[in-house]
Amino acid sequence: MPRQAYVNGRYRPHDDAVVHIEDRGYQFADGVYEVVPVHNGILVDEDLHLDRLDRSLRELRIGAPMSRAALKLISRELMRRNALTNGFLYMQVTRGVAPRDHKFPNGAKPAVVMTTRQMKPHSDKVLSEGLKVITVPDQRWDRCDIKSVSLLPNVLGKQAAVDAGAYEAWQVDRDGMVTEGTSTNAWIVTGDNRVVTRQATHAILNGITRVSLLHLIRNEGYELEERAFSVEEAKSAKEAFLTSSTSFVLPITQIDGQPVGNGHPGILTGKLRQHYIDYVRSLKRSA
Ligand code: PLP
Repeated sequence: MPRQAYVNGRYRPHDDAVVHIEDRGYQFADGVYEVVPVHNGILVDEDLHLDRLDRSLRELRIGAPMSRAALKLISRELMRRNALTNGFLYMQVTRGVAPRDHKFPNGAKPAVVMTTRQMKPHSDKVLSEGLKVITVPDQRWDRCDIKSVSLLPNVLGKQAAVDAGAYEAWQVDRDGMVTEGTSTNAWIVTGDNRVVTRQATHAILNGITRVSLLHLIRNEGYELEERAFSVEEAKSAKEAFLTSSTSFVLPITQIDGQPVGNGHPGILTGKLRQHYIDYVRSLKRSA
């Protein structure tokens, strides 16, 4: 069976799946999304992702497109049709289709799209060598906590990273403090083994991987500080890493061309990655 997508009530061949030209997501980026990782056929932290989806919708005053039970049913059916074992489920909800006009339309129905993608595990090279990041000015709006499909600064930042031969761009606020990556949260480990990541405010997306890793860090008794850190502090940190639904926990060994610590993936980073993987493997299938 060819790969399928879900579009507004229908399962369609992925290659032919289309939305209307006056979908407000297309015209105004008036919508939100989620990326739920799938490991061995299990949706990782599904309810946390759906809670965040609800929150994003509420903050933008977009109505819930359907019940959570219905969203879960469609997710599972799409995964079944696509024989998805490892990868992710993408879901997007926009304010719907209406004649182009900035103000909220009357009576438009939220539009829902879901796709899946199979992914290979990260290569041994990434894990043994670590990733390079660059820093770029954070050019985004003041509500980065909403997972909106409006991602132009993130796209430009990521491309700047790729152009510089790096994997990710860490965005930096006006005070010289790192907010987060373009699609990942940013972390460092200090010389005295304290794990540091920016506190969840409107300045960052509160990553679900971030939230789960914070629980694990607290449970394991590691020292933790949720606070902003500067580019300088990051460059002189002992270790650095990033988290996201598709990366889990990945080591960073270079920032703006400067080695982090001894230039090799950090020991604590490796331990945290393993704790996270163990956590994901321990998850059970839910209906
Ligand atoms: N920060 C930004 C800007 C993101 O776009 C993402 C994921 O897409 C993350 C952080 C990581 O979030 P999560 O762990 O939920 O994937």
